[in-house]
Amino acid sequence: MTDRTQVVVIGGGQAGLAAGYHLRRLGLDFVVLDAQTEPGGAWQQTWDSLHLFSPAAYSSLPGRFMPPQAGEEYPDAAHVVGYLRDYEKRYELPVHRPVRVRGVHRDGELLRVRTDSGTWHAGAVISATGTWWRPFLPAVPGRADFRGRQLHTVEYRSPREFAGRRVIVVGGGNSGAQIAADLAHDTELTWVTQRAPRYLADDIDGRALFDAATARRRALDEGRTDTGGVASLGDIVAVPPVRAARDRGLLSASPMFTCLVPGGVEWADGTRAEADAIIWCTGFRPALSHLAPLQLRGRRGHIATEGTRAVDEPRLHLLGYGDWTGPASATLIGVGRPAREAARQLAELIT
Ligand code: FAD
Repeated sequence: MTDRTQVVVIGGGQAGLAAGYHLRRLGLDFVVLDAQTEPGGAWQQTWDSLHLFSPAAYSSLPGRFMPPQAGEEYPDAAHVVGYLRDYEKRYELPVHRPVRVRGVHRDGELLRVRTDSGTWHAGAVISATGTWWRPFLPAVPGRADFRGRQLHTVEYRSPREFAGRRVIVVGGGNSGAQIAADLAHDTELTWVTQRAPRYLADDIDGRALFDAATARRRALDEGRTDTGGVASLGDIVAVPPVRAARDRGLLSASPMFTCLVPGGVEWADGTRAEADAIIWCTGFRPALSHLAPLQLRGRRGHIATEGTRAVDEPRLHLLGYGDWTGPASATLIGVGRPAREAARQLAELIT
């Protein structure tokens, strides 16, 4: 099967839907291709206790406020999934599921989008595939020697399966802190971070992060001094469960170990910690393998972008992923603005 459209959006999470909203407003013909069987993107996959770090009204996509969740100032992931499901229905976004894009190729004046259920030809492509699908694990000596269970953030669901066990959580970001807090009550927890945990002030949540990311972008665009953005505030949002575990003294962190041994981990001075499981909360990388045929990666492995537009392929925009595709563009509230700009530029290019 081959189909033709003006724009193919790859990925039907929040970034793909925000792109769809603006493409529709500009009257462009488009499809959204999403590998999942259900709406909600990565929010369908997270651990049970995950809550947003911003209130609902500050977690909204363009056009429609996220409704508050009864009894929760910070909505949970299931609430976000419900919101995204409702959003794509309300705006009648043409999302095709499950369709996995295998490759994007140049084909004369068009781009050819090859999937596991047919091929689309389009004047332009917006890639919005997120990062959840490409977990990052650092190369630590001895990883293959450890006899216990190793898992990444993406596989963690709840503390139940680790009750009474010796668990090592690796990572000083939000996922590491939240999963450590989740496990602190019922397991023998060792939390390991590369540097001492840096908590944001307790009254700072996603609203302030968005403002900090926006202020940084503006300063850089205007040639002023780099404000440091979100990183200048700290690494960990002190969401209520993290704050509670920290304040009860359950979240003291050890420095990074040097290697894994069959029974656990070992530090440079020979100290060891025994473990039944190690949970690697060590981040993600952009899921971009479908763009490999375009050969856009530079020497350092990055695709160069100007805003969302790929510098070496103006028919391609990258949306979501991180600050390199727009300030706070990997957040619910932050993706609207770069989505609007990407749609505007593509309307100019195509029509
Ligand atoms: P995703 O939600 O990952 O959606 C991408 C979609 O593309 C998926 O459905 C995927 O299946 C599909 N896809 C991937 N590859 C292909 C392919 N080749 N072909 C077709 N489809 C494909 N943000 C906030 O605003 N507030 C928060 O509180 C917050 N908390 C977070 C907590 C955690 C633990 C994490 C990891 C992130 C958090 N974020 C938060 C950041 C961000 O909002 C989420 O990561 C969000 O899911 C990113 O949306 P996305 O649309 O870019 O990607």
